[in-house]
Amino acid sequence: MNKKQKRNLIRIIVSGILLIGISIIFRVFSINIFVLRLALYILPYAVIGYDILYKAIRNIFHGQIFDENFLMAIATVGAFILGDYPEAVAVMLFYQVGELFQSCAVERSRKSISDLMDICPDYANVERDGMIEEVMPEEVAEGETIVIKPGEKIPIDAVVTEGSSEINTSALTGESLPREVNVGDNLISGCINGRGLLKAKTTKTYDNSTVAKILDLVENSSSRKAKSENFITKFAKYYTPAVIGLAVLIAVIPPLLFHGEWSKWIEQALIMLVISCPCALVISVPLSFFGGIGGGSKKGILIKGSTCIEALSKAEIAVFDKTGTLTKGNFKVTAVHPKEYSEEKLLEYAALAESFSDHPVSVSLKEAADQNLDSARVTKNEEIAGHGVISEIDGKTVAVGNGKLMDKVGVEWHECHKTGTVIHIAIDGIYAGHIVISDEIKKESKTALKALSNLGIKRKIMLTGDKKSVAESVSKELDISEFYSELLPADKVSYVEKLMKEKSEGKSLVFVGDGINDAPVLTLADIGIAMGALGSDAAIEAADVVITDDNPEKIAIAVKLSKKTMQIVTQNIIFALAVKIIIMLLGIFGKANMWLAVFADVGVSVIAILNAIRCSKVE
Ligand code: ADP
Ligand code: MG
Repeated sequence: MNKKQKRNLIRIIVSGILLIGISIIFRVFSINIFVLRLALYILPYAVIGYDILYKAIRNIFHGQIFDENFLMAIATVGAFILGDYPEAVAVMLFYQVGELFQSCAVERSRKSISDLMDICPDYANVERDGMIEEVMPEEVAEGETIVIKPGEKIPIDAVVTEGSSEINTSALTGESLPREVNVGDNLISGCINGRGLLKAKTTKTYDNSTVAKILDLVENSSSRKAKSENFITKFAKYYTPAVIGLAVLIAVIPPLLFHGEWSKWIEQALIMLVISCPCALVISVPLSFFGGIGGGSKKGILIKGSTCIEALSKAEIAVFDKTGTLTKGNFKVTAVHPKEYSEEKLLEYAALAESFSDHPVSVSLKEAADQNLDSARVTKNEEIAGHGVISEIDGKTVAVGNGKLMDKVGVEWHECHKTGTVIHIAIDGIYAGHIVISDEIKKESKTALKALSNLGIKRKIMLTGDKKSVAESVSKELDISEFYSELLPADKVSYVEKLMKEKSEGKSLVFVGDGINDAPVLTLADIGIAMGALGSDAAIEAADVVITDDNPEKIAIAVKLSKKTMQIVTQNIIFALAVKIIIMLLGIFGKANMWLAVFADVGVSVIAILNAIRCSKVE
């Protein structure tokens, strides 16, 4: 509880004790002096209600008349005028109990999101002219050397130049196992350094670093509102004036037309106003979404807003990228088949040509070759998405990529009998041989796809730029009946466009990629999920959901979470409206009383809030 909440709790207790005490005194002594009663009951009323009255009056001057403060003020002042003093105090008292409850619930959800905000670094130790200075992370340029002491947060994305340590990524990924880093490894900002002292060269500025992108995403997540959330805002706008109109009719029509008693019908009208307060809806719907987003973030699933939750809950078709998404993207060289050069030489050329690429294929070729290659030998470099790379090494033009790339540079090539992804190499326009690499399917992929089927996503499609034979064996292993292979990034876009037309009305298509050259498709799909995308800004920006590690099971968790959240939102809307309507009907026929109205209003709010809190629980 924060200070304000504690103060409100004290007000509730004081006012409650006063109310009970005063009521007992009047019962016991059966005093019936009107002025004395009024004067005494005003005490607890002032304690509990002064801020509401103040806000109501202030808002009238600001032109926002029909808000809940106004409803409460009118209803309670009206009750005072009618002489229902204890009721007036009680209405205010219960209203404040509901408010307190509400603000505690909001704070709880906010906490799981602000835990994530803890990743924000406060400073960076930068080495300048042999001295170490402590500066704001924003002041460090790309390429500067930073020092990260044990236990400190990594302020900026960087690559280790000295030292080794373990990195705790749990704030970002929910993964508790620390990751080992050595010279040459990438450091992701926002993670916490373990026991070793690290020196690292920054690879980005702070604004472009992972931590800044994620904070940005989380901070803006509440501004993207789902339809049901907008519905509530619009609803409240028309609903409150409508209810006030109805209340006026209830107050005047029966006395004027049917000889009703004025005080009785004015009281019914006031009761109507108390019931009408749409608090339960107004708070529980955003709170549910908030809970869902917070629950996801605890598991390393970052959801960019309630729109995404809504769309994700309606997923019907799931489209997957292969490399890095369903497979590890961690290729091992299984064969080297040179034509003229030695195996080592061929690998060396391939690895050098790949010096500047971070495609999974490239990473594995570099890993397989001798580590101490001098990238200064590469004088020109061009990467062609879905094809490979063309570089100039020692004055020779070296093309490294698939059959399509060979066709493009006009080199005759041939298939390999081995299964796996085949990377062909051409040197100065002459075919120099190929390297066979193979990837492994992630161990969680199969269960993840099954879990999606159980959640109602029956149609699953794999898209890949890899060879047909590889795509075939992967999809067989994973029971995916539909796959398309040898696609260029642009082909993936047109396939997803086509699939978007095949989904049913009101349903959505999910695309899951690893963020390497699939940003266009991530944007195009109803929901783009980027996996293990912490290093890739483009993916974080293009995606609707970012999964911070590369476990595909989290896709199913995200879908489950969104379905649960939407279910709770619907339950709350229906429940709150039903109770309100029933009591309003009683009110119209003159059968409701103030106590019933208060309990209904506060009770519904409390139940709806408790229900909303469930959204943050994910198993
Ligand atoms: P996926 O759809 O499986 O993620 P990509 O579209 O990223 O695949 O790449 C498709 C194919 O293009 C790869 O299987 C590989 O043959 C080739 N390729 C792409 N980038 C490179 C590269 N940097 N070096 C060599 N080959 C590459
Ligand atoms: Mg890919």
